[in-house]
Amino acid sequence: MNAPAPPGGAAHSQGTMAGSESGSTQLILRNGLVISMDSEIGDFTAADVLIEGTKIQAVGPRLVSDAPSIDCTGRIVMPGFVNSHHHMFQTALRGYWSDALSADYFTQSRQGEKAAFHVYTPEDVYWGQYAGALEQINAGTTTVVDTSQCTETPEHTDAAVKGLISSGVRSVYAFSPKAHGSTPHPSYAHPADITRLRETYFPSDEQLVTLAMGSPVNEANWRLARDLDLPIYSHVNDEAAGLHVEKLSQLGLAGPWNTYIHCTGLAASTWRVIANTGGKVSLSNMVEQTLCTGMPGMQPALDHGIQPSFSTDAVSLGPTDFFSQMRAAYALQRSRIQERAIREEVIETDMVSTRDILRMATIEGARAVHLEDKVGSLTPGKEADVVVLNPQLLNAAPLNHVVGAIVMLMDTSNVESVIVRGRVMKHAGRLLGVDVASVVAELQHSAEGIISRSDSPRVLLTSCRS
Ligand SMILES: [Zn+2]
Repeated sequence: MNAPAPPGGAAHSQGTMAGSESGSTQLILRNGLVISMDSEIGDFTAADVLIEGTKIQAVGPRLVSDAPSIDCTGRIVMPGFVNSHHHMFQTALRGYWSDALSADYFTQSRQGEKAAFHVYTPEDVYWGQYAGALEQINAGTTTVVDTSQCTETPEHTDAAVKGLISSGVRSVYAFSPKAHGSTPHPSYAHPADITRLRETYFPSDEQLVTLAMGSPVNEANWRLARDLDLPIYSHVNDEAAGLHVEKLSQLGLAGPWNTYIHCTGLAASTWRVIANTGGKVSLSNMVEQTLCTGMPGMQPALDHGIQPSFSTDAVSLGPTDFFSQMRAAYALQRSRIQERAIREEVIETDMVSTRDILRMATIEGARAVHLEDKVGSLTPGKEADVVVLNPQLLNAAPLNHVVGAIVMLMDTSNVESVIVRGRVMKHAGRLLGVDVASVVAELQHSAEGIISRSDSPRVLLTSCRS
């Protein structure tokens, strides 16, 4: 391979283009098995993807170009995954609440001055965001929405934004109220600080990291977001929150700018409002099942004509790679439709396919995060967020069903190369310009500090039986 210049370390500026400030640098992915996720372009058993600067220039067989190349023979080339909801500050607490139910998680993380989320320093936030973003890139997720909730002080919020920008991931920073349970910083309040954030970090919508409003279903916050022309991300975890959405819809505040997270336990009337107003849906199929917050909304969304996107939710609860999310969604929907067929004594044929699942993990995700004009498919003119998967490993070879292998068989070990906005972030299975060991050491240090300052117990071996 003629390797392009590495990204030049972990520090990326918001305006930097791929390999060149002029945007003229080219890169071509040669002879890959291309899954474009663009119905007009389709798939190819052997084709090239030409990248110029930050954008996809062309997709097709035997493109004429003398650009530096990556040989993708025997590899799958596809758009990066889009994660429509994450809480990345939690990365140092990875897996801490693996056994928790919903009440445990919310109580232990937020209730009281010494709850885990209230003892974070800005440094803890920075390393959580930075490492969490690298984890996303490493696993082939090129766009992630950070529904940030560790907004204790302006310094915490600044650290969150800087962690995202430093990583080089494409991200939407959804500025959210702090996890409740203690007194806000006196000089600071959500959502008012969103104006300062916009002026300081987000002067343009063309940046790699952009701004959104994260808010519960709240009239004042939604009005402010509409005034600022920002997308709105809202956790809608139960029927009451859904009924509140219906009320705000009557005020003209519900529309295609809304992304509704979880959508568990919603009334049919709420689903109809979401569908009729063009609202987007973000489902965390894995965590919603393990945390027992309610049955994920996959089937009701489909029943109402809504194509859902997928999200990981909190890393303290479960995995944040998209292979896990796709399998959780696929298994759940197939089992639910089968159960319904048995209960209603009908032959049910409305099963989702692995291609449906891959579509939800890519282009539907792009629609749910309001970036469908930029990412989600390998379409000339879109920004070059591309993943190269290696199926020639023991978990995926021989390759008999390409999309089936991505959804049912693969994991992060198959993610060979990752490109974000034309910049190679991972190549030959390694993140470029990142000292992973030192990042892990920072996370370990952060985890020890958070646990020692909080009233949270150490849980390292609680499930072991000797
Ligand atoms: Zn969440």
